[in-house]
Order: sequence, then structure tokens, then C-alpha cells
Amino acid sequence: PVPVIAIDGPTASGKGSIASAVAEALGFDCLDSGVLYRLTAWAALRQGVALDDSAALAQLAATLPVSFAAGRIHLNGQSFDAAQLRTEAVGQAASTIAALPAVRDALFALQRSFRRAPGLVADGRDMGTVVFPDAQLKVFLTASAASRAERRYKQLISQGNPAILGDVFAELLERDARDTQRAVAALKPAADAELLDSTDLSLEQTVETVLALWRR
Ligand code: C5P
Repeated sequence: PVPVIAIDGPTASGKGSIASAVAEALGFDCLDSGVLYRLTAWAALRQGVALDDSAALAQLAATLPVSFAAGRIHLNGQSFDAAQLRTEAVGQAASTIAALPAVRDALFALQRSFRRAPGLVADGRDMGTVVFPDAQLKVFLTASAASRAERRYKQLISQGNPAILGDVFAELLERDARDTQRAVAALKPAADAELLDSTDLSLEQTVETVLALWRR
């Protein structure tokens, strides 16, 4: 089977950066599954679809005409960079709709379709538990809430999104609670996942650790 490395973890754990660096090192494709939830949320906010209208949201998710090219995301003839989808408003809306089973089902096949040779690095919340349960390597990435809030804050500022550290911290705890307590696909490590705490590791050290696990 085409190899998959699943990297799951809480918000701002560095999954995205780690996944794309690991993919680059191995020449694999990379799937940021959070982007699909964020795109669905963005489209819902834009079209005025209520965030609890499960059927309409699932319909949106199932018909997302999304493609990824040259580091940008294309939807409906509009092109985004990831930063436009990284705002707190879109993130909170994404986490709200991600609690709906119909939305998760609608995105399931789309996510699986990214598994192509020579391999895939997929990051999210349920890559190792639900979407790619047969992944050859599963990593559950954690870091303290304080260090995750600080990283997210710096990322927002560097992307030109205004932010206040205290608010970022509060929103992160809120999102953690929602992602871990929801009834479907709650954030938790797969039974066979490697736990990796990156609080005291640099990005490079974390990437090296994942590559070492892969080569093992
Ligand atoms: O990872 P990111 O912060 O971009 O994800 C946004 C939201 O989408 C998360 O808070 C989570 O609720 C949801 N999500 C999910 N399953 C995934 C990826 C993201 O539920 N595989």
C-alpha cells in the first residue's frame, strides 16, 4: 500500500509545519486536513449557511471544488493562501462544524483521495484513528498549552493578523476543549501512535525525530 504518515495533535501543536517538512524530506505529498474543515467553514460563513445546519454544511463539504497548486488553495475560481483561512473566526467556525458527523463523513473520501504514490503525510485530529487507520507511522504531537499559544500568536502576528496573546490562549483552551470533548472523532492518540512532546524541541529537532521514527 502507498505509505502514509499520520500526524495528529491539538491546535497549534506545530503539526502543519512538521508535516510539510517531513513530506518535503521524503518527497511525499502533504494533506493539511484542517484546511478542508476551514474551507467548509469559510464557505458557510460567506454563503450565510448556519453553523448548525448539518445537512446544508455536509452538502457544502461534499461539493467543495477544491484544488491545491503551487502552495495555494483554489476554491470556486478563487485562490487563497493558508493565512486567509488561519483567522480565529474561521478556526472557531471550523471546530464547530467539525463536530457534525455529516460534515466529517462528507470530507472522508476527499481526504482518502490524497493517498497517492510515492506517499502522503497527513495532519489533523483523526488521521491515525479514522481516516488512515492503516497508516504505517502515526505520530501524536503535543506541546504545553502555553507554548502552543505563544507559537500561534507569533504566527498570527507574522502573517499580519492582529492578535492579543491572552485572547489567543483563551481561544486555544476553548478549541482544545471542543476538539477533545466532542462526540465524534474526538482528539485522542491512536492506540499505536508514537507520542511526541515538542514543548522543548525546535521545529528541526521535531522533524528529525519523526524522520528517525519513519526510518526505524
Ligand atoms: O488544524 P486546524 O486548526 O486547521 O483545524 C481547524 C479545526 O478543524 C480544528 O479545531 C478541528 O476541530 C477541525 N479538524 C478536525 N479534524 C481534522 C482536522 C481539523 O476536526 N482532521
